[in-house]
Amino acid sequence: MIPPGFIQDLLARVDIVDIVGRHVDLKKAGINHKGLCPFHGEKTPSFTVSPSRQTYHCFGCGQHGNAVGFLMEHLGIGFIDAVKDLAQQAGMQVPEDDRSPQQREQEKAQKQRQATLTEILAKAGQHYRQQLKGNPRAIEYLKGRGLTGQIALQFGLGYAPDGWRSLASAFPSYDDPLLVETGLVILQDDPGKSEAEQRRYDRFRDRVMFPIRNVLGEVIGFGGRVLDKGEPKYLNSPETPVFHKGKELYGLYEARPAMRRRGYALVVEGYMDVVALAQHGFGNAVATLGTACTADHVQKLFRFTESVVFSFDGDAAGRRAAGRALEAALPHANETRTIKFLFLPTEHDPDSYVRELGADAFERCIEGAVPLSRQLMETAADGCDLGTPEGRAKMLSVAKPLWAALPDGLLKRQLLGELARRAQLPDAELQALWANALPPA
Ligand SMILES: [Zn+2]
Repeated sequence: MIPPGFIQDLLARVDIVDIVGRHVDLKKAGINHKGLCPFHGEKTPSFTVSPSRQTYHCFGCGQHGNAVGFLMEHLGIGFIDAVKDLAQQAGMQVPEDDRSPQQREQEKAQKQRQATLTEILAKAGQHYRQQLKGNPRAIEYLKGRGLTGQIALQFGLGYAPDGWRSLASAFPSYDDPLLVETGLVILQDDPGKSEAEQRRYDRFRDRVMFPIRNVLGEVIGFGGRVLDKGEPKYLNSPETPVFHKGKELYGLYEARPAMRRRGYALVVEGYMDVVALAQHGFGNAVATLGTACTADHVQKLFRFTESVVFSFDGDAAGRRAAGRALEAALPHANETRTIKFLFLPTEHDPDSYVRELGADAFERCIEGAVPLSRQLMETAADGCDLGTPEGRAKMLSVAKPLWAALPDGLLKRQLLGELARRAQLPDAELQALWANALPPA
């Protein structure tokens, strides 16, 4: 048994176009790749590989599947061997499954429950997409933000109508407790009444809807944005058994092919930034969901890429967010990874910047992003006069927990030397002083 999470990671890490391309001569055809089907004899290609779905499909013989399935069929090997083969190509080690039979049963039941919730959420997403088509005001809003119908479709954008029970038209059994569990419906909390008597209503009303998908492409929640003035400007699904804000990144599912192509992930603050950047050719952007960037977010990103650029608005809130992102990134920084910080001019967010100044200007901003080491130095030296012993001492006291959060290795060693130099201390002395340094609590 191989832990299911590993297979997810593995499939996310490899590109099916590369895997299939080693066995089949593929040519680019629109957004897909085409070739002669290896599973049935043919003279004109009807075998397609989709980089966005990470699947293959033959219109001639009907064979289809993901990268693991392809290797099984093509090489005639079993599932475990195909996974091991793929893991080897991706440079990953297949872990052993040490769960007990009870644990496995429990996890299976939990999976089934989650599947039910994501099915409901997918159906709601369909409803919202349908509603968008019939709402000129919402369409005008998206056009006003420079978005085309194609991008709206790619991200599955929709519209939640202005009504208390709009979802009842998609879900005839509106009282189903599962609708509350998905976070789509709010159950008014009135302890004096029985559950049947309590009032239920749609959480999202008169909002542009952004479905949030997990790496498998399943809808796990929604973000909703008001069309004009209104509070709150952004509203997210609550925490549910399938949606954990501190772990999920908006746009990750959609961004993976572009992350591979561009070689890095761009982390921004809002859904609109992600979609606007994709519209301008930066399909590799993802956003945190109304929370600060966490170490879990960073860890997740490094499953898909070796390089992350955090983008921040140029205001004070952006600086604070950068501080938290730095703390989240430090435990994952090492000599093989690249982590950078991008600060936009004060009046801009990525959406406004790329719309006003264009993709080339944004590209130059990214090129000028600050590496993690310099961001750490600058954060530590902020407000310190390094020309005085007091300033240098203060700089070191701020730097100590940040430095301690780095994993042992070359980068940590380099930074110690750099900090020692700035503090005008011999390396060995600082190393001895910081032998027991602890990361931020
Ligand atoms: Zn075929």
